[in-house]
Amino acid sequence: MLDTTLCNSYLSVNLQTIINNMQSIQEDIGPDVECIPVLKDNAYCLGAVPIAKALCTYANVRTIAVAQVCEGVELRQAGLSAPAVLVLGGVPERLFPAAVEYGLQLTVFHPSTVYALEKLAAAQGKRAEVQIKVETGLNRTGAKPGAELGALATALAACPHVRTMGVFSHFSTGETKESPTAYRQFQLYQQALAQLQAAGIDPPQKHMCNSGGSDWFRASFCNAVRIGRRLYMDNQAEPLTPGTPGAVQEACSWRASVTNLRVVEAGDTVGYDAAWTAPRRTRVATVCVGYGDGLYYPLAEAGGPLLVGEQRARLLATCMDQCFVDVTDIPCRAGDEVTFFGQSSGGAAMPIQELGKFMHVEGVYFYSFLSPRVARVYEGLEP
Ligand SMILES: *Cc1c(COP(=O)(O)O)cnc(C)c1O
Repeated sequence: MLDTTLCNSYLSVNLQTIINNMQSIQEDIGPDVECIPVLKDNAYCLGAVPIAKALCTYANVRTIAVAQVCEGVELRQAGLSAPAVLVLGGVPERLFPAAVEYGLQLTVFHPSTVYALEKLAAAQGKRAEVQIKVETGLNRTGAKPGAELGALATALAACPHVRTMGVFSHFSTGETKESPTAYRQFQLYQQALAQLQAAGIDPPQKHMCNSGGSDWFRASFCNAVRIGRRLYMDNQAEPLTPGTPGAVQEACSWRASVTNLRVVEAGDTVGYDAAWTAPRRTRVATVCVGYGDGLYYPLAEAGGPLLVGEQRARLLATCMDQCFVDVTDIPCRAGDEVTFFGQSSGGAAMPIQELGKFMHVEGVYFYSFLSPRVARVYEGLEP
């Protein structure tokens, strides 16, 4: 195991901010709608176990969603036995026994899954919990309303060891306010609910919205919403005013250090294959992380912004383990702190949403590359 106290950089994750954000979201969506944190991909690479524990303890979370069986098992093995754990994605059949053993809810969209689970659960003397996924337009996984959903309902009715706990679908354009596609998808989802009800299936949880939809599509909340991105940052296109209902704060900061300074002359190059050529005399800082740590390569290529100390600077290029920053116009010494996103230790802001807008990607995208070489440091809560 990597000794993370020896890592070149660290990601500060403020658990109190995440809990505050969860509470702000809950106040916004109202007491009758359950907020299901989506902690897939190791909670967007921030650390699923500490975040799940904090949310269960301080925000009374009852259901957690992950994408894969291994992620659900990790939560169970970490001692999280109380919350329901929903596996959102399609799963290879060889993992069904583990899902049943660890009491995970699998997502079903094909009758063969239901029959396989029935056999397993009956053999283990257990109930397998599942949620129905409805295909409404993303065309990833799901049963289409009509014949497909009908066949699934028939299978569920024939399998007494399989218990249906929910019905859900997923927007393909949830982040786009007033999206006509989202309205159409929700209509189809309602059709599916009606079809299932007519077949005698009316499970307790019904959910359609992810963070994007939760920002604007109140009519589609049903009785639960699935929230990933919004635990850590606001909607990038139209952030809510701080302090208004539902507004959230950025919860994470990634910080590293300057290790070298060099003045290069006009025409000199920096990095492999002359990644960057100096147009003028330039003071270049070398920083102790690179794309191997999770620095988004295109951000470096595009000359993205970052903080050196409390000051704005620009990336010039990145290697696997080290990157280059232009510090010609700002004070800088070896050992200075570098903040890629979030806040500097001194409180200067480098909003991740600004990086998202700059690169035309979602802010959470920048989390998803962070490697195990970046220490995760959990702050904000009393230990
Ligand atoms: C990832 C995912 C979510 C969470 O999405 P956010 O936009 O981060 O809130 C919700 N539902 C499903 C099915 C997902 O795959």
